[in-house]
Amino acid sequence: MTECSRCHQLVATDAIACPHCGVTLKAYGHPGVLLYRAAAEQVLCETCTYDADDSCTFPQRPHAKECTLYHNRFQPTVLDLEYRPSLGSSITAWLRRNMFWVGLLVLLAVSVAIALKGR
Ligand code: SF4
Ligand SMILES: [Zn+2]
Repeated sequence: MTECSRCHQLVATDAIACPHCGVTLKAYGHPGVLLYRAAAEQVLCETCTYDADDSCTFPQRPHAKECTLYHNRFQPTVLDLEYRPSLGSSITAWLRRNMFWVGLLVLLAVSVAIALKGR
């Protein structure tokens, strides 16, 4: 269950319209896709990433009051949130991948150290 944005009654999460007040909750024909709505007197395009980077080809641009593709340009994108491993975990992963060669190098270093000590 989710809450209707207009009347705040509980409605099914896959409902396309609120059964209490009739407001559209999802994009027409695309159940499950969020339909963003501008607050009164506002236009979504003014704060949309796709208007700012000029990549939107929707006919309702630049006056969209409702849009399924809206993305607030002040919010981080999926690319901004991309996972970046820490230096420690990168080194651990590298060591795990090259364990044989690291082991061989250590063995070689120990052998050379022993050989030099024996002189
Ligand atoms: S994606 Fe929608 S909100 Fe964004 S610029 Fe295009 S029409 Fe406007
Ligand atoms: Zn409602």
